[in-house]
Amino acid sequence: MNAPRYTGPVYDRVADHLVRKLKGILFHAGPLYFRITPIMPAHHADTLIIGAGAAGLMCAITAAQRGRRVTVLERSNKVGKKILMSGGGRCNFTNLHISPDRFLSANPHFCKSALSRYTQWDFIDLVEKHGIEYFEKKTVNGLSGQLFCRESSKQIVAALLNECQEAGVEVITQCDTAKILQNNGFHLEGNKGTFSAETLVVASGGLSVPSLGGSGYGYQLAEQFGLRQLPLTAGLVPFTLTGALHDLFARLSGVTCEVVVSNPRASFREDMLFTHRGLSGPAVLQISSYWKPGEPVEIDLLPGRDVNRLMTGWKRTHPRSLLRTQLATTLPGKLVTELEALFWPHNRDQPLAEWQDRELEAIAGQLKCWSIKPAATEGYRTAEVTLGGVDTRDLSSKTMESKVGGLFFIGEVVDVTGHLGGFNFQWAWSSGHAAGQEV
Ligand SMILES: Cc1cc2nc3c(=O)[nH]c(=O)nc-3n(C[C@H](O)[C@H](O)[C@H](O)COP(=O)(O)OP(=O)(O)OC[C@H]3O[C@@H](n4cnc5c(N)ncnc54)[C@H](O)[C@@H]3O)c2cc1C
Repeated sequence: MNAPRYTGPVYDRVADHLVRKLKGILFHAGPLYFRITPIMPAHHADTLIIGAGAAGLMCAITAAQRGRRVTVLERSNKVGKKILMSGGGRCNFTNLHISPDRFLSANPHFCKSALSRYTQWDFIDLVEKHGIEYFEKKTVNGLSGQLFCRESSKQIVAALLNECQEAGVEVITQCDTAKILQNNGFHLEGNKGTFSAETLVVASGGLSVPSLGGSGYGYQLAEQFGLRQLPLTAGLVPFTLTGALHDLFARLSGVTCEVVVSNPRASFREDMLFTHRGLSGPAVLQISSYWKPGEPVEIDLLPGRDVNRLMTGWKRTHPRSLLRTQLATTLPGKLVTELEALFWPHNRDQPLAEWQDRELEAIAGQLKCWSIKPAATEGYRTAEVTLGGVDTRDLSSKTMESKVGGLFFIGEVVDVTGHLGGFNFQWAWSSGHAAGQEV
């Protein structure tokens, strides 16, 4: 037997009675009713975007310029917090040398389509359209290509918001979304009302730096909709050390030098910075994305130099000199003092003329290949990016649409992570643009 459907006159009378009762309660409760049960507006848009960071804003602009009605929901009180904080307040917004081999992903080909359809030159055009002055930062390896605002990263956020406004994008901040349902479109409930749209774009970023909006929300949504995910790890993050090396590096805190840092998977020639917790600086941040816990990294303290030849040369030309005196002409003096205590404490006051060639060769080997085993990384608190995330096998590389039709993932939440130097913002712009053309 079918369950009864209460649509007849009896139901009407009961319903009427209940409504009258409820009205009475509301009337007597007076203003209290409005305080405890605010009336939630219902918004309808063509496209809802969760997250007003780099990827979300770019997607919103692109979609709205196509005539789509777009609403962006941002949990934080401000949009683009990471853009504002990036590049020391000057936002390294892209890189002149964008190429797919500067990105990590289980599928190294996935990023190609989006990067080729919205390139660094497209973003540079946008920057120039808004009259933002920029410069290329010079780095020790001469391969920089890193473009920074000359004045402030606020200009990038202002340019994006300006584009949003012109295209008619609605941005709602301090909007926490809870439940999301898919039923003939997507329906969201949040503290700012209920929202529905044909398509939903998840641009909520990764776990890195929670104080700047880092959140696991996008990964939860991917799970809710049955998408595969790759394990998450902190990337572009400093190393921490323990024991004697921790103390040594703490004494050197603030000292920088140009190095090559390598492991079996990657190698970077850039600056390294000693910190009170361990190691940082561009070279270390870069290799951290390729590091596995428990592994050592190898540091060449004198990149591009034949140190053995250099030292035997000093022995000939400066026989009365000490090794530390000569080394301090090429490395920071404080570092040389610590290296001496570590590698040649017993020959510290021995003039170079008295060194055996094979002893110098051994020291040269240690300086060219200093093997250090980090205890850990500083984790998501300071990491610039989150590696892993939504598995690209469940996304279209052309549109960023997931196998759940109408649901898109863009930016850091996807398993695509760039090198240091503007690559991550370019991925956010390119993937945001790709989705914006489709939603
Ligand atoms: C300190 C720092 C400096 C960096 N510097 C650079 C740099 O110079 N160059 C570079 O290329 N990359 C840089 N990066 C990396 C870059 O910021 C990220 O790769 C990029 O911001 C990712 O863009 P996104 O839009 O995917 O995520 P985000 O920019 O993180 O934006 C995600 C947005 O979603 C919001 N959000 C999260 N959860 C919810 C929710 N539940 N509901 C609604 N909204 C939500 C967040 O508040 C945030 O505004 C830096 C990162 C950090 C942490």
